[in-house]
Amino acid sequence: MDANVRALIDQFGVTNETLRFLEQPKRMFIDGQFIDGNHQMARVEDPSTGGQLAEIPLGTADDVDVAVAAAKHAMKRGEWSKFTPRDREQVLRRIAELIRKNAQTLAEIESLDSGKAITGCKNVDINVGANTFEYFAGWATKIQGATRETSFPIECVTYTRKEPVGVVGAIVPWNWPFAMAVWKLAAPLAVGCSVVLKPAELTSLSMLYLMELCVEAGLPRGAINIVTGKGSVVGNHMVAHPDVAKVSFTGSTPVGKMVGAAAVNNVAHMTLELGGKSPMVAFEDADIDAVARATLNSVYFNAGQVCSAGSRLYVHRSRYDEAVEKVKAIAESIKLAPSLDPTGVMGPVISAGQRNSIMGYIDQGITQGAKLITGGSPLDGAGHFIQPTLFADCTNDMTIVQEEIFGPVLVMAPFDTEEEAMTLANDSIFGLAASIWTQDLSRAHRLIPQMDAGSVWVNIHDPGDPAMPFGGFKQSGIGNDLGPEQLEHFLETKGVWIKV
Ligand code: NAD
Repeated sequence: MDANVRALIDQFGVTNETLRFLEQPKRMFIDGQFIDGNHQMARVEDPSTGGQLAEIPLGTADDVDVAVAAAKHAMKRGEWSKFTPRDREQVLRRIAELIRKNAQTLAEIESLDSGKAITGCKNVDINVGANTFEYFAGWATKIQGATRETSFPIECVTYTRKEPVGVVGAIVPWNWPFAMAVWKLAAPLAVGCSVVLKPAELTSLSMLYLMELCVEAGLPRGAINIVTGKGSVVGNHMVAHPDVAKVSFTGSTPVGKMVGAAAVNNVAHMTLELGGKSPMVAFEDADIDAVARATLNSVYFNAGQVCSAGSRLYVHRSRYDEAVEKVKAIAESIKLAPSLDPTGVMGPVISAGQRNSIMGYIDQGITQGAKLITGGSPLDGAGHFIQPTLFADCTNDMTIVQEEIFGPVLVMAPFDTEEEAMTLANDSIFGLAASIWTQDLSRAHRLIPQMDAGSVWVNIHDPGDPAMPFGGFKQSGIGNDLGPEQLEHFLETKGVWIKV
């Protein structure tokens, strides 16, 4: 690491375990081992300082081939294939325990790597990881087929078996490097699949640390393999690999379309968790203080780099001015700080490129006539910080209302009728999530079916629980992560007939 990162660490302190991990050379994890190779290395940046945090190996197509072969062997003939459901449950529980035991270290690695504010990172991201392993551990012993009565007298005993689909090729983005990757690992492992996972090239470190914990937990070789590197090389080769039976992708909609096309070409199963532009709709009877506070968690959490961010806020005209004032006060109260500062609420965005992209959207918003209420500027100095930004009086034809900005930028607009609110909320290519704010439960029940969104929340935005499925409608994706629904994506159903 360079002097800037060292100074940040000296200022806030990290565990000895974090230092040990950061200072050792980073290696990919294939077939139960951290592998040495003559890999080209890529610089990993700390977004808070712009300094060099580490280097990661850039994997190749050959690395993917070796990893897929190891994963295939593990689930067909290796030790992993011999793990009973109870063994799988126990190893997943041990991984969860080790995540909790090492939560501080994991949070430090993750926040340095991604820029996430450490307190939120530990309480949310790392906790989500442990909860997810625990939840799916419970499912390992509960996978079951069914016996069937045939409709005609053919004298057969018939039943169905649920079998693991095969090797899973998982690809994740940089905005939730740890939590999204665990979402891709826990369910397939519970049902007996093996996984080859590619982290985002900007944020691979927490997965490499997790592999140390998986070895300690006794996960057999080949069950998880981590190939670091570029999407255009590692990701591209993985999704086209004939031995990858299931592609489980989280990322942007444009890349998801390419990934989906490659999976179709191999007739592989696929789950696509893609982008969003999720609306929050507040009616005249809404608790506007609660709506304003919710923006902390909806659009300003993780500097707005959240797929389900409530990045559009529609408010009934009778409460609109009040809502603009209250959201403005919340946005202006947010403390921007380097990732390791435990009092920080918002850290930097992931990279200079992301900051420039967000600033481009902000400029476009101003040009297209949106009213800038607060924020709108990057911070001077090192690191990629952007002020929490609020635009009011937006219209649905504006780019900032239609496109996923993936930054701390909220757009607001008023509405007059329930029908208009639904039209505005659903006027998007995306359909990931939506929240409705009202005291009228009849209205809430009436509108929930009308929302084009994979998750609908009432009087809250983006609660999370591994028992609840998460997935997108429209161009926000295909399939679900989490919940019992996710298990089905990693299972084949075999029909069995026995003549008696
Ligand atoms: P991205 O699509 O650029 O990259 C995602 C992953 O795909 C990375 O690991 C990348 O290396 C890889 N990749 C890139 N090109 C590839 C290719 N040709 N073949 C295979 N893999 C390739 O997305 P990002 O910028 O890392 O993440 C932000 C996006 O992710 C946003 O759109 C956000 O909404 C979305 N996201 C969605 C969810 C969800 O659950 N729906 C969750 C988090 C993030």
